[in-house]
Amino acid sequence: MSDYLLEVNDLHVQYNTDDSVVHALNGLNLRLKEGEKLGLVGETGAGKTTLALSILRLLPKVGQIVSGSIKYKGEELLDKNEAYMLGLRGRRVSMIFQDPMTSLNPVKTVGNQILEVLNLHFPDLSKDEKEKKVDEMLQLVGIPASRKGEFPHQFSGGMKQRVVIAMALIAEPELLLADEPTTALDVTIQAQIMALMGQLKEKFNSAVLLITHDLGVVAEFCDTVSVIYAGRVVEHGAVEDIFMGNENHPYTKGLIGCIPDLSKDEDRLHPIPGSMVDARSIPEGCAFADRCPHCMDICRKIIPEEHVNGTHSVFCHLYDAIKEGEK
Ligand code: SF4
Repeated sequence: MSDYLLEVNDLHVQYNTDDSVVHALNGLNLRLKEGEKLGLVGETGAGKTTLALSILRLLPKVGQIVSGSIKYKGEELLDKNEAYMLGLRGRRVSMIFQDPMTSLNPVKTVGNQILEVLNLHFPDLSKDEKEKKVDEMLQLVGIPASRKGEFPHQFSGGMKQRVVIAMALIAEPELLLADEPTTALDVTIQAQIMALMGQLKEKFNSAVLLITHDLGVVAEFCDTVSVIYAGRVVEHGAVEDIFMGNENHPYTKGLIGCIPDLSKDEDRLHPIPGSMVDARSIPEGCAFADRCPHCMDICRKIIPEEHVNGTHSVFCHLYDAIKEGEK
């Protein structure tokens, strides 16, 4: 039996469009234990959502899993048929999508949309039992059960996201994939939603893969962090390793440097120079080389190996010298 709830190994995923091939994931590795809260951090286009869709095998038609492995509780998901995946999605692994406006059906009441999950995964429950569960779940996410007959347009953005969370958690999944669950919401509502997710996570003991570009949310919510760039994890560690350590990957340093320091009187932000590498032509060696202030000759030729130090690991040639010194 595997130590991990989810293990992704050397995953390569691409999108085949009419005029090009977009290499979204390029050898991604990731591990998640039961009950763990892992933050997956990176800029837009890094491959975060592609990973979540690959786990659930919900990639659009142009998407293709080229090679690699996705194991859930030791079982290879890429070998499973669609019937197996239907039983897994929403029951054992749930997903909260980025935008509650588009993830709810506008012509069905919120109560019926939550009920659908129970009809699919718990057909043996009686109608009354299902209705009772829907009422309890709505109350848990802070919505009066009396509103279950209303339609999504009658709810605010934050309330809609609460409904989406209720749908994702009603089957008490072992793993929750939360894809930028607060991006479409204003800041005060973001804090409420993250607090709610934290409470519900404790109640159901689900593991959470939180996909975000917001390092503040990760620092508050997560136990561990994986930083992703151009479809590969470039650094992984406990939250303390990432935010308090002094051996960060240059990309992680850049992300942390982008956060405004309110204790300093500064006129300008410090963005990472350049933009995300073109996924149609991933360069040889380290994909971050064009934007890295420490780039060396070797970086443009050879993909860096993993340097592990306790709970922390980093993929960067800067740390080759440290490793050599340890021999
Ligand atoms: Fe920079 Fe080289 Fe490290 Fe890549 S491997 S992050 S280019 S120092």
